[in-house]
Amino acid sequence: MTAQRISEISVTPITVAYRKELGRNSNRENIGANNTEWLVRARTDGGLEGLTIANRYMRVFNDFLKPEGRMEGLVALLRETFLGKRTDEFLEMNGGDAVGVKSPFLDVFRTHGWMNILAFDLVGRDMGVSCVNMLGGPQRDRVDAYDTTLWHQDMVTPENAARQEGEDAAASYNDGYRQFKIKVGRGGRWMLPREGMQRDVEVVLAVRDAVGPDCKIMVDANFGYDGHLNLLEDFVRETLPADIFWLEEMITADVEHYREFRRMRDRLGCQAMLVCGEVDRTPISPVFSDLIGEGLIDGYQPDTVGVGFSTWQAIGRRLESTSVLAIPHNFGNGNFGTRANIVFGAASKGFATLEDERYLPNIYKADGFAFADGSYAVADASGLGLDVDDDTFQRIYAKNEVSISE
Ligand SMILES: [Mg+2]
Repeated sequence: MTAQRISEISVTPITVAYRKELGRNSNRENIGANNTEWLVRARTDGGLEGLTIANRYMRVFNDFLKPEGRMEGLVALLRETFLGKRTDEFLEMNGGDAVGVKSPFLDVFRTHGWMNILAFDLVGRDMGVSCVNMLGGPQRDRVDAYDTTLWHQDMVTPENAARQEGEDAAASYNDGYRQFKIKVGRGGRWMLPREGMQRDVEVVLAVRDAVGPDCKIMVDANFGYDGHLNLLEDFVRETLPADIFWLEEMITADVEHYREFRRMRDRLGCQAMLVCGEVDRTPISPVFSDLIGEGLIDGYQPDTVGVGFSTWQAIGRRLESTSVLAIPHNFGNGNFGTRANIVFGAASKGFATLEDERYLPNIYKADGFAFADGSYAVADASGLGLDVDDDTFQRIYAKNEVSISE
């Protein structure tokens, strides 16, 4: 059987909506209520369609004389990489297993991991194999997910202060979520350091109160405790009753600082994992390699859509000889990112849980990858199993579709 050829590619900005307005984190203004998925559809001469999103390309914008962040640059990159290529030109396959990237695509897929995921989807669809199987086969039949939308909601609704996040968490619990990540680090920028730490503590305790003792609670400071290890110690001590599951990016990755942080955590009798790595765009960079090698972190977090499946496969092989879990970052990746991470999580041996932005359904057909009781089902489907709902696409979005063909 001859592999199919990619004959047409299009890019369309698709709106995706949160279930509420998201507040700040330690360093960014309010996220707001919407995001965009830069949907890439690649069609073959045999009638297949593979998907990815180009958010990682479109959000890098320097000026109008540079290609990044502009439709013109994106279309040129897609044309050069995919148009006219056969689906068997991208990945090294061993039967249905993807075992590497073919050399002409090593650099481009390393730089643009989201294009590597498109290659997986196209190959899987052409071979009739699921991306879960291409990634080594299922390790689990459901993938746990955590609600990642508890930003600084107290700053969206200041009159409610810490109570707001408790109410948001309770609503999310009623929707079936059993794991919740809370943005902390208010004292880094938005509040005075000690007052910010106190509010962080209040919020964490309010969420624990709201969801009961059996749920997992994580916190993420986006480095908001940099320069304040003393206040971080106070935060860890005062939140001990909340039994935090992981402490994410409390401080910038640095071997000396993490040694100190870990000693402090142990001294206080805190069981929380220390996790970081979403800022690593070229994994595994030296500082993270040192943190992993010295056992100073418990979870590592490069973004799945940012770095691609093949790079995460290589990371996974390295992590297997350690106790460090794979906890990919997945923020800003739309509903496509949720699917990509369900698929990766289903196949990854050391996977912990999926970062879920809880977007409303937008452009994709409903299918068997359904959420219930804190986790997603993994359906059997070729490629990513994700399909565009063409009625909705034609009705709302087709007028903004930019298409290129051979
Ligand atoms: Mg984070």
